[in-house]
Amino acid sequence: MLDNKLKEQNNLTIIEDKPEVWKVEPSTTAKNCRNFIRDIVDNLDLKPNPEKPVIALSLGDPTIYGNLTPSEETIQAIVSILEEGSCNGYAPSVGYENARAAVAEYLSHDGVNINTKDVILCSGCSSSLEHCITVLADGVKNHNILIPRPGFPIYRTLAEAIGVSVRYYNLIPENNWEADLHHLESQIDQNTTAIVLNNPSNPCGSVFSEDHLRNILEIAYRYKIPIIADEIYERLVFSGEKFVSTASLNSGVPILICGGLAKRFLVPGWRLGWIVVYDEIGAFENIRNALICLSQRTIGSNTLIQGALPSILQNTPQSFHDELINTLSKHAQLAYEGLQNAKGLSPFMPQGTMYMIVEIQMQKFPLFHSGLEFAQKMMEEESVFCLPGDCFAISGFMRIVLTIPEELLQEACVRIAEFCNRHYVN
Ligand SMILES: *Cc1c(COP(=O)(O)O)cnc(C)c1O
Repeated sequence: MLDNKLKEQNNLTIIEDKPEVWKVEPSTTAKNCRNFIRDIVDNLDLKPNPEKPVIALSLGDPTIYGNLTPSEETIQAIVSILEEGSCNGYAPSVGYENARAAVAEYLSHDGVNINTKDVILCSGCSSSLEHCITVLADGVKNHNILIPRPGFPIYRTLAEAIGVSVRYYNLIPENNWEADLHHLESQIDQNTTAIVLNNPSNPCGSVFSEDHLRNILEIAYRYKIPIIADEIYERLVFSGEKFVSTASLNSGVPILICGGLAKRFLVPGWRLGWIVVYDEIGAFENIRNALICLSQRTIGSNTLIQGALPSILQNTPQSFHDELINTLSKHAQLAYEGLQNAKGLSPFMPQGTMYMIVEIQMQKFPLFHSGLEFAQKMMEEESVFCLPGDCFAISGFMRIVLTIPEELLQEACVRIAEFCNRHYVN
């Protein structure tokens, strides 16, 4: 047959038995891609109490109840760009020069100096994280990365999809969720190619002190392991607390900083994230170029948002940021006080972010065998749902989202307290 001749010429295998049935299989990357929150939540039998309206304290999206909206300047910036019609074509895959310059300027504070060439725009901070993990860690070389426990599950999702394994380092609750430095160091081996830091932390709401950051960077420096700093909650800290960016410490450790508009500007759906290649010592030259290559796979982020980015970053008034922080801080206070009335819970007062982590003294609730069952029953009886700590790789905790309207948050805390007091056994 003609096609077989061609195949012989081209050194290709001849298929003798053509298959009768279709067998289309997803790739290893796809099969290894797991959503750890969905895996857990979908396995819970979530049936709310029909007598009580559901209050979702689970969704890390500040926009769902409509009480938190982006600044007027943010909206206007998009409207103008849309009407101008100047941002409808392809942008460079790393982003428009002026949008990158605006990010560099926005992040250049507290002694940090970032240049336009250091900034790569991405489709949300998730995509920034994906590029950073992909550029530093290699599945075929058995690389591993260190990630925090408890922590945001997407680091593991992104790593394992490309065959990179993750090793957790513990955060210590009674130490204000600082990293256990000995444990962190003990997790490092020859194949460790990145340490992921998330400061301020989701789900802990904690903010690392300068000293603590220095201690972590000192370990990274000794082993010459670069840092991926997920700083999506940068400057989202409550009054009296201070956000210290990893880059501001001049540690000599090369850092990939990830951030974006999602949380501080209240537009997670707009999918605008960034990577900053922060490299004082020239260790990242190949990495910078490799990141540019990776950005070409999907040709960067949405151009309308990029076009609006300089206005969004420059014109959003400080009062907008202050107001958001005041609201979150007030909600944190409310939830903390509300949960004081719940027997068997130990809430941790957050220092920033949009979350509060709460310990469940499981031995006081013998009816429930796990935090998962606790969350499920709370939904069944009180129609209040919180993500169990297991979604963040820690058991016996739950995370409360602080962005929902005040009255709902208050009502949720009353119901949580009633639930706990009903099932608490001394
Ligand atoms: C929300 C969040 C992100 C993702 O941000 P997107 O820009 O929406 O992709 C990344 N890291 C942490 C810790 C988050 O909480």
